[in-house]
Amino acid sequence: MTHSDSHSPYRANAEGFFGDFGGAVLPPHLAGPMADVAVAYEEASADPKFQDELQALLSKYVGRPSLLYFAENLTRELGGARVYLKREDLNHTGAHKINHCLGEALLAKRMGKKKLIAETGAGQHGVALATAAALVGLECEIHMGAIDIEKQHPNVIRMELLGAKVVAVEEGGRSLKEAVDSAFGVYAAAPEEYFFAIGSVVGPHPFPSMVRDFQSVVGREARAQILEAEGRLPDLLIAAVGGGSNAMGLFDAFLNDESVRVMGVEPGGEGLEGTRHAATMTLGTPGMLHGMQTKVLQDAEGEPSPVHSIASGLDYPGVGPQHAHLESLGRAEYVSVSDAETLAAFQALSRIEGIIPALESSHALAQVIKVAPTMPQDAIIIANLSGRGDKDVDYVAELLKQAATA
Ligand SMILES: *Cc1c(COP(=O)(O)O)cnc(C)c1O
Repeated sequence: MTHSDSHSPYRANAEGFFGDFGGAVLPPHLAGPMADVAVAYEEASADPKFQDELQALLSKYVGRPSLLYFAENLTRELGGARVYLKREDLNHTGAHKINHCLGEALLAKRMGKKKLIAETGAGQHGVALATAAALVGLECEIHMGAIDIEKQHPNVIRMELLGAKVVAVEEGGRSLKEAVDSAFGVYAAAPEEYFFAIGSVVGPHPFPSMVRDFQSVVGREARAQILEAEGRLPDLLIAAVGGGSNAMGLFDAFLNDESVRVMGVEPGGEGLEGTRHAATMTLGTPGMLHGMQTKVLQDAEGEPSPVHSIASGLDYPGVGPQHAHLESLGRAEYVSVSDAETLAAFQALSRIEGIIPALESSHALAQVIKVAPTMPQDAIIIANLSGRGDKDVDYVAELLKQAATA
């Protein structure tokens, strides 16, 4: 199914609108280049050769299908629903992002582009994109906030080893939002040279639909795997939401199964009262950000608010427009968990299952820990374990030390 499938109420129309959200709001000179991407993607998604090439890379290079793991210890410990984890952490490069980066790299190559450009938060998108660029044979330029460069330095080394040029962004909060602006500025000056490889289901049309399609392999696999393991569909899906790509990837294949509850988990940070969170779905209001109409954490002038999360891959003041749409239709619900709950879930999964999850994914796990005990023992939850936590261990050790001495 392509993104313009008009038969589903959950998908975008031809202009990239999911109900009131989405679209492509761009400076006039970028409207043409972005429309070219939309047309190229439309053609590629209908071309069996493109799909076969992508599928071959996903199975032979990424290592798909990823496991759907029954977390028996965690299930016993929580004493409620049966908990399954979709193991995107086992992908080559250690997270779900490689799924859409390979798709974007193949599309860029098909369009005759020489260079991929992108922003990165935790460094996961940058590493995944640099990996895809190396494999497919494209140049790669990654913009990253200076704070994130400090927090995630091993990922900077990885990107450079993979042949990418890493640009440190010193503006404003020196984090993900500024990195998006910086990369977009370079792209806007030379759109014929670059393919702007957006790192989530955000930005102007066609990216929210295209990145979702590339990630939808996660949910298609999970659906087949749970039917094989349990002989029925799950009751609840849970995934962390930053921009929303791992969540849409898991949700997409189940949206027409109305019995399956769908839940996104946002970073509640240090609490929803002040500004030390990034709970866009919970507290955001309709607005414009990065070329799309969506929910935004913003001030009275429409300036995006400063955001915070313990997981730098989630500290984004916007959200993918399809999530805003799914919420408005009542098809998906969104909750938040705090940094402290996330840190506890990170430690719990490590000890109980011997799996160190990414801090981003730990948001989904924190919600599992909250809801599984309230559900019957024959209920089934699938949570997306979007990435591994190796990148986070130094930061977590520091946080635990601070907590111990506080
Ligand atoms: C980037 C990242 C996320 C957040 O991005 P989404 O687009 O919301 O999926 C979640 N988990 C991991 C491991 C990530 O690297």
